[in-house]
Amino acid sequence: MMVWSIANQKGGVGKTTTTVALAGLLAERQQRVLCIDMDPHASLTFYLGFDSEEVPTSVYDIFMLDKQPSREQVKQSIIPSEVDNLHLMPATMALATLDRKLGSQGGMGLVLKRALASIADDYDYVLIDVPPVLGVLMINALACCQRVLIPVQTEFLALKGLERMMRTLTLIQKSRRQDYQYTIIPTLYDKRTRASLDTFKKLVERYDDAVWNGMIPIDTKFRDASNEQLPPSLYAPKSRGVLAYQSLLTHLQQLAGQESA
Ligand code: ADP
Ligand code: MG
Repeated sequence: MMVWSIANQKGGVGKTTTTVALAGLLAERQQRVLCIDMDPHASLTFYLGFDSEEVPTSVYDIFMLDKQPSREQVKQSIIPSEVDNLHLMPATMALATLDRKLGSQGGMGLVLKRALASIADDYDYVLIDVPPVLGVLMINALACCQRVLIPVQTEFLALKGLERMMRTLTLIQKSRRQDYQYTIIPTLYDKRTRASLDTFKKLVERYDDAVWNGMIPIDTKFRDASNEQLPPSLYAPKSRGVLAYQSLLTHLQQLAGQESA
């Protein structure tokens, strides 16, 4: 089971879009995919066709059980989506209160990792849409993934947000034994603007190989797809944006192949 966390402390950079785009492509390729929506805004949950205030259980329940959830409890928190091979562990607004509720209660950093271990044979891929706040949810998401995907909007201000995210990764890394594998994904690329190209160059200068050597273009089909509550690859399979996510997926799978070789 491959686990990717899609994270950036800045909002509006394409985290949710990247999650649902990659999930849709993987599901089409007959991979069994679980999407986990950890963001209290529940955009991913909405995207996959659910009202976050009406779902029976959610990520929240996984954290609020007194003990580590059993395999049955983890399975109960997952719902199948309309898309074949694509399941969802939804978010609810209550997730926003989790840090306050748990307070300084220690030992909560591996709850999700253990929960996923109990369903490891059920899925080929787990994609986690991580909230932009450094808290118990982000720590859990970063603790259980093989790779962090960091979408970065190709505009100057976004670089500052990325620096913050990289500091967070370093901070959390210190409490873990193993180094993070991460991939920076240039998003919302507008080929007509200097800012997009300049930002892309700066990213490569600073982060070198960690930057995917491609970019996700601005594509209005993404907004339409979210309105239709469909993964972009189902809504507009031949769109520029979807083709870009296809080549990103190929790149990520190659990296994963190299690691396991
Ligand atoms: P985040 O999850 O980081 O907050 P989203 O994925 O929700 O960001 O994207 C923010 C907004 O930008 C959404 O309205 C989404 O539809 C739109 N969007 C994301 N990626 C693209 C793109 N490549 N082209 C056009 N619009 C996009
Ligand atoms: Mg989002």
